Formats: sequence, C-alpha cells, structure tokens
Amino acid sequence: MTNLAHYGDGQKLSDRWPTWPPQDDQAEENAIAVLRSGRWAISETSTGSKPWEQRFAEDFAAYHDVPYCVPCSSGTSAITIALEALGLTRGAEVLVPGITWVACASAVAGAGLVPVLVDIDPRTLCMSVDAAEAALTPSTEAILAVHYGCNTVDIDGFLSLCQRRGLALIEDCAQAHGAEYRNKKVGTFGDIGVFSMQASKVLTAGEGGAAITCDERLYELMAQYRADGRLYARNPSAGQPQLRQVGDVQGRNLCMSEIQAAILTARLPKLDAENQRRRATARLLDRMLDRMQSVATVPAERHMTKRTYYRYCIRLAKPPLCGIEDFAAALGRELGINCEVLHQPLNACRLYNPLGSPQKYDPEILARLNPTQYSLPNAEKAWTEIVTIPQYLLLTSDYAALETVPLSIDQALYASQTVDSQAAR
Ligand SMILES: *Cc1c(COP(=O)(O)O)cnc(C)c1O
Repeated sequence: MTNLAHYGDGQKLSDRWPTWPPQDDQAEENAIAVLRSGRWAISETSTGSKPWEQRFAEDFAAYHDVPYCVPCSSGTSAITIALEALGLTRGAEVLVPGITWVACASAVAGAGLVPVLVDIDPRTLCMSVDAAEAALTPSTEAILAVHYGCNTVDIDGFLSLCQRRGLALIEDCAQAHGAEYRNKKVGTFGDIGVFSMQASKVLTAGEGGAAITCDERLYELMAQYRADGRLYARNPSAGQPQLRQVGDVQGRNLCMSEIQAAILTARLPKLDAENQRRRATARLLDRMLDRMQSVATVPAERHMTKRTYYRYCIRLAKPPLCGIEDFAAALGRELGINCEVLHQPLNACRLYNPLGSPQKYDPEILARLNPTQYSLPNAEKAWTEIVTIPQYLLLTSDYAALETVPLSIDQALYASQTVDSQAAR
C-alpha cells in the first residue's frame, strides 16, 4: 500500500504544508524593538512611549468595534478575570460545554465556582441551548459559551436565555478569532468575550490572552484583577511607573509581556486575510468530502456569517473499528500533519480532575465538582466519530497536496479495517 506522505513528485507531503507559528518579519522586528527598548513589562517604568500592551489592547478592541480590551497572560487568565469581574457568588454554577479544552472547566472551578457540564448540539458540536436551559438551577449565575472548532454557538438562543433568566454571558472565542455571527464579531454579544493567543490558535504570541467588553466597570475590574490592582497611569513621563495603584479589588499578576504584545500587534492585521485563506481552502475541502460516502462535513451554525476554522472537523459515517484516536494517528501519518480528535468530553477527561487536588477547593464546593456525575451522550458520540485537521493546513495554496486529503481518509479507513481484522484473527 502506498503511503501518501510520499505523494506526487517525491516531495514529502509533510514538507508541503505551511508551518505554524508562521514566519513574520514584522513580528520579529517588533519583538527586537521591545528587547532593545528597556521596557519588557507594563509593570515597570514608562519609557515615554505607549506600551505595546496598550497598543495591542486598542487595536484588538478596535478590531472588534468595542471600547475595551484587557490583554493578559493566557486564555485561562482571561476566563478567570472575566469571572472575577462579574462578581459571581462563591459556589455559584456556571454552565460549560461538555466538549471543550479543559481550561474552560478548570478556570471556573479555580475561581471558586461550580462548572456544570452541558451537552452539545450534535450538528454544530457547540453547547446546546436546550440542554443549557434544562441544566439551570437557582444557583446558576453565568454561561461560558464556547465557539468551538469551526463553529459558533447559537448566540441568539443564548442571549435570549441569559436575558430571560438574568444570567451573565461570557463568550469563549479562543477557537474563533474573527468569526462573525449576523455580521458582527463573536466576543461582542455577551458581557465579556475571552480569547487565547496560545501557539495553536489562529492569532498567537506563543502564550497570551485577552478579554473584551463594552462595559467600562467590567473593564476596570478586569484590568485590576490582572495587574495586582493597578490601572494605567495617565500619560506618565519617562521614568515614572506605567501603572497607578487603585486596589478596588484583590488582583494578582496575569499580565501579558511587552514581547507578546509586540508580536500580536504585528500579527493582528493579518488575521482577516489568513482566516479568508482558510475559509477558501475549507470550501474546497468541503466539496471534496461531500462527494464521499464515508465522511461528512460539520455544517456552520445558521447565522454564522463569517466562518473561521481552528480545527477543520471531519465526521466519519461510522466510528472506525480501530477507535478514533488510532484513526486520527493513521490519517496524520498519511497526510504528514498532526491530526487530532476532539477534546475528551469533560465528564471523562483525563486532564479535568478537580478531585485530584482537594486542597484547592472549599470542601462544600469540592463535593459538587465530580465531573462523572454528568451525562453527555451527544458529546461522547461526537468524540468517537470526529477527526480534525489543524488550522494551518488550511493556509496552503498547494492544491495538489490538498487533493490527497480524500485519498488519505480512504487509506486511513482501509488501514483501520486491516488493523481490526488482524486483531480479530
Ligand atoms: C485554548 C483554549 C483555552 C485556554 O487558553 P490558554 O491560553 O491555553 O489558557 C480556553 N478555551 C478554549 C476553547 C481554548 O481552545
């Protein structure tokens, strides 16, 4: 059997895909400018010029057409300061989707709250509004709606639910930078939008995060929660502290470094064009896969007017006999790129183990954290039948290489059946 990793003119497929993070001359230039500037962090003295962190905050807020942005050290930090600024009651319940990165649940638990795991809409792979409504109790105070994989949640549905029930809405856009719903950017519908700029994300500085809002009070609280209670000083001259002490609340240091902010300032202007390129490639892939019996594509949420891709999701008609993880590995070998399964459903996720650190939680809250109490049938089923291709493959302009994707899927399916029949013998 031919391995498609050596397809065509002999050049390995793995050498034909784009690399990530990308080479970016402007990002390099900006990072070097920081290194030479004498100011590596906003928590030190001013050099007289505007910090990169503030520049990025202004650019990222303007990109979303909102007044406020608080950059921070990670997506996890962004979720944390958002929850803190909302002033939720200790022990209150926050709805979290059953399939997402572990940080969504662990950050909620880490903020003294109880993540309630909610099943997904099997079509879109995002949290179901109906399941969310069914999960509400008198203790529910907020929803962490995650725009997952290559989709958005049903934002209309969640806005209406939150308005009717008096809940706060945080949109987790760590996988959806630049996506639009009804021609408006995600992250701007809820009270707060949170983002991660970790290395796998479509806008990255290696690590990093940000929270955006239209609410001045939430902004001032989030800014203090991320900088030990400090806010920007107004026009400090060179040598004076960049931050002034306010201390309305108990913060800690979750600040983004100047190097990260300088890289993001260079990368942000390219986000739309890169998302556009991914969208065009995804459209070609959709067309190729729609001709296959063995797989289906994941449809966009109804009102998603600009689709973005963090992971391109492929649904197998039948869960492969070898199991989805081995199938993803086989597809990855065929394609010469790392193909992943969805995140493990959080009721059975190795990394979500609050009971493994009982010392971190109030005893009465700990008793409510056991993830295995939740039933998530749609999440569990989706996990067994979906394989994903990373976003940077979609940046390719090598269409001959792209055409190997259906062949690679067939080869991986064939290999998975072979594996099973060997095991059965
Ligand atoms: C990556 C991610 C996060 C966490 O971001 P970090 O920067 O790794 O802390 C949160 N939510 C979602 C949906 C993510 O994909």
